[in-house]
Amino acid sequence: MKNLRDFTYPELLLEVEALGERPYRAAQIYGWVFHRDAASIDSMTDISMALRERLKPEYRICGIDVLDVKRSEDGTRKFLSGLDDGARIESVLIPDEGRLTLCVSSQAGCALGCLFCMTGAAGFTRDLSLSELSGQVFAARGLLDEGERITNIVLMGMGEPLNNYDNVIRFLSVLTDGKGMGFSHNRVTVSTAGVVPAIKRFGFDANVNLAVSLNATTDEVRSRIMPINKKYPIAGLISALKGYPLKNKKYITIEYELIKGLNDTVDDARRLIRLLRGVVCKINLIPFNPFPGAAFERPDARSVDAFHGIVYDAGYTVIVRAGKGADIEAACGQLRARSEAHEAAFNKNN
Ligand code: SF4
Repeated sequence: MKNLRDFTYPELLLEVEALGERPYRAAQIYGWVFHRDAASIDSMTDISMALRERLKPEYRICGIDVLDVKRSEDGTRKFLSGLDDGARIESVLIPDEGRLTLCVSSQAGCALGCLFCMTGAAGFTRDLSLSELSGQVFAARGLLDEGERITNIVLMGMGEPLNNYDNVIRFLSVLTDGKGMGFSHNRVTVSTAGVVPAIKRFGFDANVNLAVSLNATTDEVRSRIMPINKKYPIAGLISALKGYPLKNKKYITIEYELIKGLNDTVDDARRLIRLLRGVVCKINLIPFNPFPGAAFERPDARSVDAFHGIVYDAGYTVIVRAGKGADIEAACGQLRARSEAHEAAFNKNN
């Protein structure tokens, strides 16, 4: 059976046409599925009973199953979802200064193997479909407190979004469509580890914010912690960012994970400034949040301050992103790893 959450509007038009129905039916169904979050075909009450009966043997509206939710003292909520084939993904709701941001996973696992990331350590399972991407938004809405609403979406969870390119582009079209999920382009951000050829395409195919996980100022260090740098070294990445077609006065967000003794020195800060000259950007500094078995440590507050001061004095907009949800295993991949370890232990004992 086909899941109606797996169709963009143009795709639904073709489905409806194949059923011999008028095009406006596609708009009705699409609106019910993505705008009104219909739970079933029967709930589409302005669609004739005859059409609903025709749809039911072939189509369904199906979400993802939330298996576990952890809530931090700071209001961060992290949830683990199970997919049809048993794959598991994580998503996180992060409250911050009047915003409520949902961090969405784009893949089950990740093939890029960044050393500071627990998801990378667990390997890659598969790409997520449109229904699994949008399903995280619908599932998160079910976890909201009274009066809350999701204001921002970031594709910064498990996976490399630009390695699931077509589904991510389809998701963004539904997400930012006023007749679909209705999020503003300005409130949606896609974060990449630096898939250079895809960055060039993405600038033309999507009108949302771009974030790049840079994390080092030399190829030697970056290749060590982000193996993708061996394929797409820093110079090519920076050149792609300089040529990136920014629309509507947008800027690129540079994410820089500060790791003690590795990339947090005064020299690194100075190199970062030189590297980013000519890139329209703001910089997020993220002190590393250690997870069990991590090979790195969190930098001390003094080096974070010094790094921040140097970049700030050079005229950049730079913020130190406060770690959120540290008490609920907020590092990407931690919840899934724990759940799989429990399952393995359960299977062994039974
Ligand atoms: S940081 Fe992102 S790109 Fe790197 S391994 Fe983790 S999920 Fe993949």
